[in-house]
Amino acid sequence: MYQTIFIIIVAILLAEYLISRLLDNLNTQWRGKELPNELIGIYDEDKYKKSQEYGKTNSRFSLISSSFQLVLILLMLFLGGFAWFDEIAQGFSSHFVWSALIFFGILFFLSDIINIPFSVYSTFVIEEKFGFNKTTVKTFILDKLKGWLLTIIIGGGILGFIIWLYFQTTDMFWIYAWIGLSGFSIFMTMFYSNLIVPLFNKQTPLEEGELREAISKFGKKAGFKIDKIYVIDGSKRSSKANAYFTGLGKKKRIVLYDTLINDLEIDEIVAVLAHEIGHYKLKHTLVSMILSIIQSGVIFYILSLFIGNKDLSMALGAEKYSFELSLIAFGMLFSPISTVIGLFMNVFSRKNEYQADKFANSYGLGNSLISSLKKLSLSSLTNLTPHPAYVFAYYSHPTLYQRILAIKKN
Ligand SMILES: [Zn+2]
Repeated sequence: MYQTIFIIIVAILLAEYLISRLLDNLNTQWRGKELPNELIGIYDEDKYKKSQEYGKTNSRFSLISSSFQLVLILLMLFLGGFAWFDEIAQGFSSHFVWSALIFFGILFFLSDIINIPFSVYSTFVIEEKFGFNKTTVKTFILDKLKGWLLTIIIGGGILGFIIWLYFQTTDMFWIYAWIGLSGFSIFMTMFYSNLIVPLFNKQTPLEEGELREAISKFGKKAGFKIDKIYVIDGSKRSSKANAYFTGLGKKKRIVLYDTLINDLEIDEIVAVLAHEIGHYKLKHTLVSMILSIIQSGVIFYILSLFIGNKDLSMALGAEKYSFELSLIAFGMLFSPISTVIGLFMNVFSRKNEYQADKFANSYGLGNSLISSLKKLSLSSLTNLTPHPAYVFAYYSHPTLYQRILAIKKN
């Protein structure tokens, strides 16, 4: 049985790799396709060339990094690397929680360190070359260290809790793990801006002035009390601009990147905010959260059916049952299902984006929204002609062209 599982895992990895390469190739073929009228003039000739070049560079980079990762994981599978690391971890501690945490710790740090050259190249060579990078070496190193610390505390804490629960409650473990994790994710949604963001960025309340007044005026019209508007120093890392809505209930806040404020006119910023408020008013934030809670319940339940299976551990080269190896094997076997779930979530998300655009448009902000989308697209050299299959698989937002058409139609 375990040999079959091994073959299935390898087949899944190869299939996922090939599909992602195929989609990338299709996307590359569509680069430079003739632009529809609505998109002509957003980029001048020079910028358009640059955006093509940026896309091609990224696609080559992803070919190299994903091939490297595939080779690495296949080596781990064929040489029994997972079981080997598991033995090392068990040599450190005989307690099941600690040995599992040490095992995952070894895997996490090894893979993260192996990936450092790739992320250095992406930030300091590719993003730098196209003028996006604002990250200093110091910020990069500090980000890494803070990221590791958070992974150890939060990731280690959650994982340790789940492993402990499993050995305490076996059959019912999925319900407890589900409740625990859902509670934690609601807590994080509420306090993310207070606890995590300050570790990486400065957030300052938007100062009084023309922009703040324009935003409050819109808030009144839309019946939405906007008291927490923050500006975040996104320019610390990149010149790309963004805005987002976060939190629940009293903790909700709107966050604008300083780069957004620099790049856009007041009416355009109001339009972007109107779109974000639309997400809240139309309950997209709430529904997405409920969906992800349901999703994690289903995953925990399915996990509980398989996690005790010794064949899963043996498929990764172990001779006896190991919780951590079974969990890794389960993750690999489950990945096609999570890809399918991800596709549905993207469909759902794109639908929400159209609705939020429509919401902004219903306040007469359609044209301002279109011009803001065009500017944002230009400032990040977005691909104007992505392949539809690529959009279907990966895009959480409709393309610029689709959004402009939809806004104009309403
Ligand atoms: Zn949106």
